[in-house]
Order: sequence, then structure tokens, then C-alpha cells
Amino acid sequence: MRLHLPLALALAVLLAGCTAAPARPAARPAAGPVAEVAANDNLNAVAWAQTAIEHDLVYLQAYRDAQSRLLGALHDPHWDALTKEDRVVPAAGLPPAVVLDIDETVLDNSAYQARLVKSGGAYDEASWAAWCKEERARALPGALAFTRFAAAHGIAVIYLSNRAKDLDAVTLANLRKLGFPVSGPDAFLGLGTVEPGCTQVGTSKGCRRQLVSRQYRVLMQFGDQLGDFVDVHTNTEAGRRRAIAGYMQWVGRRWFVLPNPTYGSWEPALFHNDWRAPAAKRRQEKINALRYN
Ligand SMILES: [Mg+2]
Repeated sequence: MRLHLPLALALAVLLAGCTAAPARPAARPAAGPVAEVAANDNLNAVAWAQTAIEHDLVYLQAYRDAQSRLLGALHDPHWDALTKEDRVVPAAGLPPAVVLDIDETVLDNSAYQARLVKSGGAYDEASWAAWCKEERARALPGALAFTRFAAAHGIAVIYLSNRAKDLDAVTLANLRKLGFPVSGPDAFLGLGTVEPGCTQVGTSKGCRRQLVSRQYRVLMQFGDQLGDFVDVHTNTEAGRRRAIAGYMQWVGRRWFVLPNPTYGSWEPALFHNDWRAPAAKRRQEKINALRYN
């Protein structure tokens, strides 16, 4: 049957009004003149971290889930979240703790990344230290509630960070300003921390986890980098997967991994960890690493 055109239009309008059609994204503008600012590979990642509600929900989800499991872990005397390499003395009888990385795990440094996007600059120790000394990093969603909950239940909150030694005081001040539980200087294990008899390779955290293992039974660990949980001996895509392979069952139970698309050791893994290579070459290696089917 062929519908009369005005009637068909009226029906179409009526149906459109009744249907919850998905909102259409605004059309992309047609290709115009050359962009006025240089493109920055980190723009979308930083914009997502700062503005996307999904970012906040992922953090909330992780911390709330951890909190719902924390007392169960506390009351299970066999529960421990350190690997056999890091557990240098038995956990039995030791007081409980949770271990958290700081940057992009409890503190949000996206403003520093945003400044780099705006200026077209790149990370360097001086500008990073200057940002840390502002003590203006914000708390990431869920982190405050979780750490306070842990502290309120007699669980030590240990911050294990790769911030440099000279940033210890400003880091603790930033955490305290936000209301994070900080029991004292011992609660912060930065790059300057030494574990006698253990040789720290680069910024790997294994020695500091061993130090924690002498004092605490660790209920949970939190981080945005694989190295927050295990030492990564071969920083390639495959090497990183191998490093975590034996502990996949711990993820979401003992280990809580948070998202960081703005920086991390996942990135140099794509260009042979060669930060000295020209930027264009590193970028090309990243493009080469993408999957196309
Ligand atoms: Mg981090």
C-alpha cells in the first residue's frame, strides 16, 4: 500500500516524537584551514581524565568495590596481597595495611598534564617538582573515602610512590590538606626509601614492597601502573603481560588497577623504551604498534 505523502509525513513526525531516538552527535565541521595550534597527542587523554564522568566512575567503582571487600580481607588471617617475591617474612600475625601508589591513584595531577598540552611542553623533573610543590593536586574519586574507611578500621595506609625524596614533605602536606589519613613519615615510601640488602633497579618498587612486608600483612594494593604491583623486568607489551600472568586472579580482589591514559610505562614499551629517539620516531613506533584488524 502506498501512503499518501502528507499522511506519511504526519505519521513519521508522530513516530519520531514517540521514539527515544539516540542523540545525534554534532556534525564534524568540514575540513577547514590549517589548525591554529599544533596537535598534541595527549589532548584527548588529558581531556578525558579531567572532564569525562566515566573517568570518575571508574575510580569510584574500583574504590567502592575494594571497600566492600576490605573487612573480609581483614578478617581472613591468610589473606595477603604481596607476591611471593615481595613477601620476605611470613604475614601471619603482622598488623594489616593497604598499600597505595600516589600519582593518578590517590592524587590527580591532570592539571600538570594540561599545562603541558597547553604549552606544547614535555614532562621534565623541574616542572614536575614545581607542580608538586604547589600542593594543589586533587583527590581522585573514591580514594579519600576508601583510605579513611581503612584507617577507621585500624588498617595502616601506606603510600608507596616514585616521587623524589625532596618531594616527601610537600606530598604529605598535599595529602593532609585533602584529608587523607597520614599516620606519619613512615606512611610514605618515596624514591629515597632504602631497604637494606635489596638493590632497587631504577624506579622499581619491589624493594619497598619488601620493606612493607617486614612490618605488615598487606590486604590490598592500588596503582595505575603495572609496576605498582610487580616489578617488570622486560618492558615490552609481551613482557608486561608475562609479569602479571601469575596474578590475574588477584586483580579486582587484592589488586586494584586504575586507568592512566596520559602517561606510564605502557608508552615507552611501544618504542623500545628509547626516550632518546627523536619524537617523530617514537610517534611512528606507536602508530606501528596499533592493531588494524
Ligand atoms: Mg601512579
